[in-house]
Amino acid sequence: MNDSEKFACTSCGQDWQTWYRVRGGGRLFLLCPECDAVWLPGDDRTGPPKHHLGALFGPQPKFFNAWALIEECPAPPAD
Ligand SMILES: [Zn+2]
Repeated sequence: MNDSEKFACTSCGQDWQTWYRVRGGGRLFLLCPECDAVWLPGDDRTGPPKHHLGALFGPQPKFFNAWALIEECPAPPAD
């Protein structure tokens, strides 16, 4: 991994798009830790985010904390 592979968040521009996964071997996605914007694999990470962290897990109670369910992880191998 080198710095040229880093993409700034296209939504807020305040942080890097970072790989996270759902704990326990769940799906991977790119997350902006600043504004919770999400890009799923296959999404155009240079374009506006199509997803949001709070919506990844479907309808939830008001104080649901999606951060407790995810963890930072290495980038998946490029294919
Ligand atoms: Zn952002």
